[in-house]
Amino acid sequence: MKRFIEEFKAFVLRGNVMDMAVGVIIGGAFTGIVTSLTDNFIQPVLSLVGGARYSWGDVNVFISNFASTVVNFLIMAFILFCMLKATNKLISLGKKPEAPKAPTTKVCPYCLSEIPIGATKCAHCASELPSEEPAQTANA
Ligand SMILES: [Zn+2]
Repeated sequence: MKRFIEEFKAFVLRGNVMDMAVGVIIGGAFTGIVTSLTDNFIQPVLSLVGGARYSWGDVNVFISNFASTVVNFLIMAFILFCMLKATNKLISLGKKPEAPKAPTTKVCPYCLSEIPIGATKCAHCASELPSEEPAQTANA
């Protein structure tokens, strides 16, 4: 059962699953906006052309219906955005930060060129470099 949950977590956190879910939900919500626009604007206008009569009360209902659909869409988009941010954070928490690599080069104090860290003589300006590893000098 624990393995099952781990697999499910990996599936959800893969990222493109969330993208797909967002696409489906936003698509559905957008369909709602289009439908609302048709029902509350285009259809009444066409009915007016066809001879229908609307009171100002009807117009107010149309406007408030459409406005509430838009507000619904915005709220949903905002919640989805927060969920995506949280998921992305979870994904980045799951990845271990890469350990900084040990330096393999140093900068020559005379010509400021990058040279191997163990060098005792600069390859660019041929300066003798002060040894940073006294243990090796003592052995030599
Ligand atoms: Zn140098």
